Amino acid sequence: MYWGLRAENHRGHQSHGFLTYSEEKFYIYKNLDLVPKLKSNAMQEWFGRLPGHIGIANVRYTTSGRCDDQSILEGTQPVTASLNGLKLALSFNGNIVNTFQLKKEMTQHFPGFIYDCDSDIICHKLLVELEKSKDLTSAVTTCLQSLDGAFSVAGITGNGDFFAFKDPHGVKPLCAGHSPDGATYAFSSETVSLDMNGFVRDFELEPGELVKVSKDGFEREQIVKNPRKAFCAFEFAYFARPDSRFDGKYVYEIREDFGRNIVREYPEITKDADLILSVPETGDDPAMGVHEESGLRWERASRRHRYVTERAFILLNKERYSTIDRKINILGSKVDGKRVIVTEDSIVRGDTTKVIIEKLRKSGAKKVYMFVTFPRIIGPCFYGIDMSTYGELIGSKHNAEEIAKIIGADTVCYQSIEGLVRATGLTHDQLCLACITGKYPTPLAQKMADEMKQKFLNGYEEKRRIYETDEAST
Ligand code: SF4
Repeated sequence: MYWGLRAENHRGHQSHGFLTYSEEKFYIYKNLDLVPKLKSNAMQEWFGRLPGHIGIANVRYTTSGRCDDQSILEGTQPVTASLNGLKLALSFNGNIVNTFQLKKEMTQHFPGFIYDCDSDIICHKLLVELEKSKDLTSAVTTCLQSLDGAFSVAGITGNGDFFAFKDPHGVKPLCAGHSPDGATYAFSSETVSLDMNGFVRDFELEPGELVKVSKDGFEREQIVKNPRKAFCAFEFAYFARPDSRFDGKYVYEIREDFGRNIVREYPEITKDADLILSVPETGDDPAMGVHEESGLRWERASRRHRYVTERAFILLNKERYSTIDRKINILGSKVDGKRVIVTEDSIVRGDTTKVIIEKLRKSGAKKVYMFVTFPRIIGPCFYGIDMSTYGELIGSKHNAEEIAKIIGADTVCYQSIEGLVRATGLTHDQLCLACITGKYPTPLAQKMADEMKQKFLNGYEEKRRIYETDEAST
């Protein structure tokens, strides 16, 4: 679990948590920041602190709730709940949209119920259903039918049953694997955690699937069938590690294809450039594709500070600008007087891209053409990526030309949605493309997005994440 979680620290660096199960008891350790480095004596101490043979772990990046240290720690997963002698522990990736309605329901069972993160809601809801039905499959089935949003979940019951399930659209990744000796079974958001442990990847959970683990291995149950899948397209462009695999394809291969696509889509701009520069590190893989397709030199003239590990996107607004400034350095003389293609994974708010362009201009770059692999983001995400209002998205109110002016680029060349879909090897009906098309795969998210967009266009100022506003619940 430790090495698996460290391998996936890019999915959340605000806090981390481990939970183990032994003799009907849960043991928990939680703390702020990255999963720490451990010397071997400290590892022994952790073994003592976290006994047992089953466990779940989580790294957090907040997409709901407050962002002060205390609130982040309180919202750190795994979470637990108990009811009439039954217990449950749970770790999840995603975001729940109908939290107001569920909170009301939970208050009837747990008077004074408050929750620090959405996983508290799922955990309590699942426990209530488990208490009613005394059957995990039927409890998970009810949850899949009553939660709106994205949730890839791993959990342990008070009896030591170890299981995992995915929401009916399968928005977030979750795969299963085992150790080569067959003694250990694992679930993981990305395949990279299995690789780090020398495990074999068995399968990606299907949307609406429940998997239980027994001594004989995985027991798979397709409990809700949904023809409309919606795997998050942003995983391919930004979120997942390049060395993770989805459907047997490495993310880096897909990112290289993104780069090739943009060259084909913007031949005139490509012809006008002298060299390619990538925003490290999610811009590196598309840069390889741009280089191969165009034949232009990929100048490795933007370097990232190896020990500044925070990902700018998941930082709080106030931290993002200064972190990117300290993290990325430009080898000035390499770009002086040059017309440069800069490959970037996405432009969300525009502030980090602006910093990089400013640095390039200071170094004497004559032209800056942004090649952006994720198409223009026009709407918020309701499913676990923290871009949750129209106001914060530069693409919600500006087209590519206007964005270029704001961030100081000569041109912004977004990959087309068609190109992106084709490169993933999936179809429109298998991907969530909501933030770039405005078409949300779940009904409540669509309703909230449409209503808030109307208000936003009429000048309404959003002060909180859309799914956390009182208006959203009605
Ligand atoms: S809205 Fe965008 S970021 Fe959110 S799950 Fe869908 S594709 Fe991913």
